[in-house]
Amino acid sequence: MADRAVGLSPVAGAPDPEGGDCVDCGRCCHHGPHTVHLLEPDELRMGPTRLAEFTELQAAPPHFRFIVNQGHVCGALDTSEKGKYPCKIYAHRPEDCRIVEPGSPACLEARALGHLGSSLGFKRSDSA
Ligand code: SF4
Ligand code: SF4
Repeated sequence: MADRAVGLSPVAGAPDPEGGDCVDCGRCCHHGPHTVHLLEPDELRMGPTRLAEFTELQAAPPHFRFIVNQGHVCGALDTSEKGKYPCKIYAHRPEDCRIVEPGSPACLEARALGHLGSSLGFKRSDSA
């Protein structure tokens, strides 16, 4: 799974609980492949066009659907502007992403590490 070498630098201090500094942070959107998975409600929210562009189905059973990665960066993260990390599908993002609220344990861990850590139960092996 992701290690320090593939993340960003740690972020000091507490985040804005309203998410005001999330676009400047983006640490929780840096993670290993097969981290953000989708259940049926997520697929319905995403819709077919976003599913085709930003997700993939496992070839082998149990055929989980995941957001695709670009290396250890979420494939739905817009990295076109240096130092900014907006989500391309923010309004439609899966529940896995919504769990990581600013100030949550996973958020604080991601800020401390520079990438999403191991505190989330939904994380799966790269070989899944
Ligand atoms: S780690 Fe926390 S502050 Fe940074 S983008 Fe994620 S939720 Fe926002
Ligand atoms: S889908 Fe959006 S919010 Fe979720 S990890 Fe990817 S870029 Fe971040």
